[in-house]
Amino acid sequence: MQKFVKVESLKNRISFLKHNFQTIGFVPTMGALHDGHISLLKESKLNNDITVCSIFVNPTQFNNPDDLLKYPKTIEEDIKKLKKVGTDILFLPNVKEIYPNGNTYIEQEVNLDGLDLLWEGEFRPGHFAGVVQVVQRLLNIVDPDNLYMGQKDFQQHVIINKMLQQLHSKTVLNVVPTKREKSGLAMSSRNVRLSEEERIKSLVLYDMLNFAKDHFVEMNVIDIENYAISKIKEKGLNPEYFKIVSDNNLKQFDNNSKGKPVAIVAAWMGNVRLIDNMYLN
Ligand code: AMP
Repeated sequence: MQKFVKVESLKNRISFLKHNFQTIGFVPTMGALHDGHISLLKESKLNNDITVCSIFVNPTQFNNPDDLLKYPKTIEEDIKKLKKVGTDILFLPNVKEIYPNGNTYIEQEVNLDGLDLLWEGEFRPGHFAGVVQVVQRLLNIVDPDNLYMGQKDFQQHVIINKMLQQLHSKTVLNVVPTKREKSGLAMSSRNVRLSEEERIKSLVLYDMLNFAKDHFVEMNVIDIENYAISKIKEKGLNPEYFKIVSDNNLKQFDNNSKGKPVAIVAAWMGNVRLIDNMYLN
C-alpha cells in the first residue's frame, strides 16, 4: 500500500494511473476503521483497478467541538486493516493540506434544495456544509470513477448525490448497505465510546426501525414515529428524531411521496450521538 500525505504527490500518482487506463475507486473516511468501512473498500476492490482510501477527520463538519476532540484515532490499526483488505493507496493529509487557505475554502457553491437543512442539518447546523466542502475537495484531488459511501449516513449520501448532479461530475456514487454488529447495532467509529450496558440499551434503535418496517402497511406513519420515540426514551436514550421519509427528498412520507419510504433516527446514548436508518419495503 502506498501512503501519501501531500496533495500534489497524490495528484501526480493519480494522473500517472489514469494515463495507464486504471479505474479508480475512492472511499473517504475519518478513520477508526471498522467492518462497515471495510465493506466499502471491498466493494471498491471488486469494481476498480485501484482503490484509494482517505483518512481525514474533517474539522469543518463537526458542529460540536467536544465530538471532534473525542473522535477516536487508531491509525496503526487502521493501516493494518487497510493493508489486509488490499487497499492500494492511503491518503492521510493534515488540515493545512486540505484547507491551505483556511477552513472557509470552498471549490464551488452548490444548491442542495434545502436537503441540508432537514433532520441532521437541523440538529447539526453547518454539518453538511462541512461534508460538501471536504468531499468536493477530496474528489478534486482523487478524481475517482467510483465513490463509495455507506447507507448508514443516509442523508449524507442523498446530499452527495445531489452535489455530484449539480457539479455534472463524472464520478458515480455507490451506496453500500449498513454493516451491523451481530446484535443489530449499526457499526460506527463512535461505538467504542459506549459501555456494554449502553450498547444493549442502544439496540432499541434497531428494534424500532424493525418495528416501523413490520407495521408500515397497517399503521399510520405518525403513530409509528410517536411509538418509536416513546420506546427510545423508555430505554434512557435521548431521541432527536425518528422520522419516516421519502428517500428522494427526505420529506415526511405520505401517499403522494414519489420515493421509497425509509425510517431515519438520531438519538443520544449518554454523550454519544447515534444515527441509523432502514428501508421499509
Ligand atoms: P466515517 O469514517 O464515519 O466518516 O465513514 C466513512 C464512510 O463509511 C461513510 O460513507 C459512511 O457512511 C460509511 N460507514 C460508516 N459506518 C458504516 C456502516 N456501519 N456500514 C456501512 N458503511 C458505513
